[in-house]
Amino acid sequence: MPMRELRFLLVEDHRFQRWALRQTLHSLGAQHVQEAENGKAALELFRNAEPPVDIIISDLDMPGMDGMEFIRHVGETGQPVAIILASALESALIASVETMTTAYGIHLLGAIEKPVTPDRLRDVIDGYIGPRRRGQPSEVRTFALEEILQGLAHNEFEPYFQPKIELASGAILGAEALARWRHPVEGIVAPLRFIPPLEDSGHIDELTMAMLKMAATHCHAWQERGLPASVSVNLSLKSLADVMLADRITQLVHDQHLDPRHVVLEVTESAAAANVGSALENLSRLRMKGFGLSIDDYGTGYSSMQQLSRIAFSELKIDQIFVRNSSRQESSRVILETSLDMARRLNIAAVAEGVETRAEWDLLNSLGCTMAQGYFVAPPMAAAEFASWTRNWRLDGRAEQAGRDR
Ligand code: C2E
Ligand code: CA
Ligand code: CA
Repeated sequence: MPMRELRFLLVEDHRFQRWALRQTLHSLGAQHVQEAENGKAALELFRNAEPPVDIIISDLDMPGMDGMEFIRHVGETGQPVAIILASALESALIASVETMTTAYGIHLLGAIEKPVTPDRLRDVIDGYIGPRRRGQPSEVRTFALEEILQGLAHNEFEPYFQPKIELASGAILGAEALARWRHPVEGIVAPLRFIPPLEDSGHIDELTMAMLKMAATHCHAWQERGLPASVSVNLSLKSLADVMLADRITQLVHDQHLDPRHVVLEVTESAAAANVGSALENLSRLRMKGFGLSIDDYGTGYSSMQQLSRIAFSELKIDQIFVRNSSRQESSRVILETSLDMARRLNIAAVAEGVETRAEWDLLNSLGCTMAQGYFVAPPMAAAEFASWTRNWRLDGRAEQAGRDR
């Protein structure tokens, strides 16, 4: 979307700085700029803006409703919008607000230290990919539980596979199975729209088992074909409350003639551990049976994970937010390096998720990360597409090639 069409909202209590920011925006070609001197007024403008605001540029330290509270309220509206943080506060604090912003589901374009220069502002705005306008709320709507369960009963769910590549060699070490719903009317539906209702209602196991079964079948086929890749399946922490889970998973994988050594279970941190005892029992048993265990979204989770980390995890998956920000945010870089260091000391594999660029790939490679997963290599693909992708990748064999082909 060209600059002149973007709708900006400036939130800044300092009158001169607000004026300067507006001038800067105009000098970059912006034509629609609204402004507010505090969070409350900004929220009012934001809620009533028609057409909706595309980008908010907000100060953090403001009297009354501060930037943090404002961002939370913006997140609560559920309206798609991107935010740029502009602040004179120290970078460590800006970093934690960045993480908070993302946690509230807001698209954070970047944080700029004051004073804001035109070049820096343009760089950050350039990263703006026009999100869904308000006219298409169906994109984020979750489905009703009944409809999801019906879809499960009709086998409309399937795994898409995203490769996990060894940075040092370019070898395909595995693939993560990511659930997709082939909806009869809406087409391919992403997990965000069906996982939360399944988790909230206690039905997530039905999806997990269906995914695991299909993932195991495909992985078995890869092995037969001579591709020694493991398959990773996401496990909700909620499922771990049932002490029989490990046995059911083991049985199911055996039934598909697959050795548990080829299966990695990724435990997401998003759900709070309902019952730490049974979670530990399940995870220990799974590990004992030979399954790989991965800590998903490492770095973003709650303290529950610290208890679980007493388990012999075999893999640590570094959340994409740290990969994304590592080049420009010191705290992210530190978390990235510390995570890699920890994985090395524990002698377990480190997987970086969300690797999108050549620069990220190179950085991770130089820091000794084991595997990379992300759009730089390939997006999640339907099983057949993944199978043919692996053939071509083996021909090219190198990440450089993937970069050039893009
Ligand atoms: P996750 O496990 O962290 O999976 C990674 C997500 O990042 C996937 O989103 C993937 O499509 C996306 N991704 C991959 N590469 C890139 C990249 O380079 N850049 C960016 N920006 N994103 C990338 P997806 O498929 O929408 O899945 C979202 C989440 O849903 C997953 O996050 C996982 O927590 C959950 N999920 C997916 N399948 C299942 C499942 O079968 N069971 C459970 N319990 N959760 C699942
Ligand atoms: Ca995962
Ligand atoms: Ca993740």
